[in-house]
Amino acid sequence: MTEENKNIFADWNPWHGCTKISEGCKYCYVYRQDEMYGSMKASSICRKTANFDLPIKRKRNGSYKIPSGKVIFTCFTSDFLLKDADEWRNDCWKMIKERKDCWFYFFTKRIDRLEKCLPSDWGEGYDNVLIGCTVENQSRADYRLPIFLSLPVKHKSIIVAPLLERIDISRFLDESIEEVSVGGESGYHARPCNYDWILDIREQCINKNVPFRFHQTGANFIKDGKVYRVKRALQRPQARKANIDFGIGKNYIPDTAEYNEEDDNMQLRFDI
Ligand code: SF4
Repeated sequence: MTEENKNIFADWNPWHGCTKISEGCKYCYVYRQDEMYGSMKASSICRKTANFDLPIKRKRNGSYKIPSGKVIFTCFTSDFLLKDADEWRNDCWKMIKERKDCWFYFFTKRIDRLEKCLPSDWGEGYDNVLIGCTVENQSRADYRLPIFLSLPVKHKSIIVAPLLERIDISRFLDESIEEVSVGGESGYHARPCNYDWILDIREQCINKNVPFRFHQTGANFIKDGKVYRVKRALQRPQARKANIDFGIGKNYIPDTAEYNEEDDNMQLRFDI
């Protein structure tokens, strides 16, 4: 990993707090983190953060606080398409548009709200916006992915996490999907993730020539019928060790494998 790679990421959480919407939210990392850090406010109450306008904040010398070229992980302590944030989102789109020199990447479980949340000049999509549609089981894949495929988004990824059962997404894999990233669930109560399910999705991706990434094992990992309790710090390295990624680098999706292992926020991004 080069020094340059280590520093390409930035975080922007314009609001914090979210409401649970599907099975994948059961042990939501935002709720877990709030509890861990003793937050007195309910995690389900969405509020603007002090960093709301971070992408356009400037230093004393006039330059942007977030330098040019960064991949900005957007709204990872909520859902960017949450209804409670409707009145604030347009200001975010304006900032995203102003910062054409950076990439903005958000994941959502509310892809069915995207159309009504888009700015009027979205057209076929902003070049610098990547959207990850999250699915956790067959039912959510069958509901969300056809919607995702039908939407004008320039850069699309599918985040299969936390993977809760064997699922078939093969019919949703076409050339518009730039990456499928798969992982198990973290946390004390994590539901098990079976390596066979991961290999199955990998196979589906290879058959459709869609890049595939195994990003983390999750805390309860089943391999060859044996259950392993994997410590949080080892969940990503163990996935990397499996060495089963496919086609990565074909499209420009931020290379989250090139992360700084000391970076807690990077863990949080995938701690789902
Ligand atoms: S942040 Fe994500 S996982 Fe948590 S409640 Fe919202 S949609 Fe669900």
